[in-house]
Amino acid sequence: MYYNNNTIIYYNGNFVKASEASTNLYGQSLHYGYAVFEGIKSYKTDGGTKIFKAKEHYDRLRRSAELMHIPFEYTTDELTSLSYEVLERNGLSDAYLRPIVLCSPNMALSKGKESYLAIEAWEWSNGYMANKMRIMTSTFERPNPKAFKVEAKVSGHYVNSILACQEAKDAGYDEALVLDSNGFVAESSGANVFYEKNGTLYTPSKGSILPGITRATVLEICAELDIPIEEKLFKPEEMRGADAAFFCGTAAEVLALDSLDDVPFTRNWDDSLSATVQKAYSNLVLGKNLEEFKLQLR
Ligand code: PMP
Repeated sequence: MYYNNNTIIYYNGNFVKASEASTNLYGQSLHYGYAVFEGIKSYKTDGGTKIFKAKEHYDRLRRSAELMHIPFEYTTDELTSLSYEVLERNGLSDAYLRPIVLCSPNMALSKGKESYLAIEAWEWSNGYMANKMRIMTSTFERPNPKAFKVEAKVSGHYVNSILACQEAKDAGYDEALVLDSNGFVAESSGANVFYEKNGTLYTPSKGSILPGITRATVLEICAELDIPIEEKLFKPEEMRGADAAFFCGTAAEVLALDSLDDVPFTRNWDDSLSATVQKAYSNLVLGKNLEEFKLQLR
């Protein structure tokens, strides 16, 4: 469960019990999905509890609010220290943080007048990531970038994610690979995607994706480790049967894929460059620098 009787959240200026917090039923956030949010992870590191990429996540939250014309005054520093306080008050280390910016009561189709911030957190360790995922090409497309601000993390966008993810599960797969409106691979329901072929990694260019913070971290890792990487548009045919592939996101971290539409990725995962990226990422989130990891690779 996400909370119990002792769980504390930050809500609208105060630290309150999750079980006692409530929201108004006459708002655009609930009725129209007009809210912005983030998904952030904290880790127990040698130097104490650390929120990974707090600045990047809170800069994106503020940018998402701005793109949606939702008034939102908190600074990234304030948001970060409130988040540490939520973790501390709940005794959490390995956790998932979910800040959400909700709009005040208003049923009109006009911009938000005031917003409320909630920061929720619950325990999360990534032990379940052992199995490689079987994925299918979704029959749903990602939201058209001319109809939405796809670079913003907006609640309403996730109705598309639910449809795609549930379709895949109902068909016996673990997740969906969702294309853009031109048939190019975009991303998963809640993660970005990479595939590996002949010693190069490929990932969809920006345009129809949520440009993930983990995706950016993977690009940094590749630059640091001299792993060739190309951002480009490609069709699922190009990805099927590649050497290896993975999803990446704050929650997913770097998650190995088994097959796309029942066509397996061919390389032994542990021998792939993708596996090296996965290991480097797990070092980074624990606050270790890549120099040490590079030495281990030699
Ligand atoms: N795409 C979508 C649709 C997502 O929901 C997420 C998760 N936020 C991502 C990509 C990955 O983003 P990030 O690495 O910033 O978590």
